Amino acid sequence: MAGLAEVTGDVLVATHAFCISTTTVVIGAEGGCLVVDPGVTPAELSDLAAALASRRLHAVAGFATHPHWDHVLWSRSLGDDVPRFATAACVAASAAGRDRDLAEALVEAPETDGDRFARLAALPRDGVVVPWRGPRVDVVEHRAHARGHAALVVGGAGVLVAGDLCSDVEVPLLDLDAADPLGDYHHALDLLDSLAGDVRYVVPGHGHVGDGAELRRRLAADRRYLDELAAGRGDDDPRLTQGWLVRDHRAQRAALSKTIR
Ligand SMILES: [Zn+2]
Repeated sequence: MAGLAEVTGDVLVATHAFCISTTTVVIGAEGGCLVVDPGVTPAELSDLAAALASRRLHAVAGFATHPHWDHVLWSRSLGDDVPRFATAACVAASAAGRDRDLAEALVEAPETDGDRFARLAALPRDGVVVPWRGPRVDVVEHRAHARGHAALVVGGAGVLVAGDLCSDVEVPLLDLDAADPLGDYHHALDLLDSLAGDVRYVVPGHGHVGDGAELRRRLAADRRYLDELAAGRGDDDPRLTQGWLVRDHRAQRAALSKTIR
């Protein structure tokens, strides 16, 4: 079982085998938890439910940082009456791509629970905090990586839950369907940079938890990668260690070379 590692007294993180995905658990009132990006395979999801139960915790709310298939899964073991929030733009994108995304999930994780896949509830239009009984969790919405992407800030704990940004194991992956993928990504990094002074820990959706200094290092590494990419380079980024990531890097370099020149 992956288990839950304590980042702060209120924030726990589980790390899964699939793409070093992480789940962030924020502990709220009476053992109720906010579960962010709950894991990928059915085994990971049921391990997470067991790890919560062993600490006398249970999910009372979920949150999907963005609409990609590996962030919108759920399992009966986590509870069927649990609202699973996301930004309104994320919910819309997820609904539009549901069939394609579920097909992708079924390739990677054949036992995926299709009934509970991407059943997301939109935050209120002015949703700047997650509506739940627990520590204040601010929603920082932006347009990098995917439509409706949101980072979360667990204020009291000083934890930034970054979704698919600020990874130590993946280069920035752009949303190539957006009108200005590079501009969107720079804007999001600026947004996270403006919060960095209060961040003690950063939890990326894929990779390893870092401290405040590590967040600044990752923001700098991501900016360097974006600049290299804009110049038609970036092949030397030390994070390009896996075949699929190298392919995605080459694809975005090629796509940008068509739009920039
Ligand atoms: Zn993603």
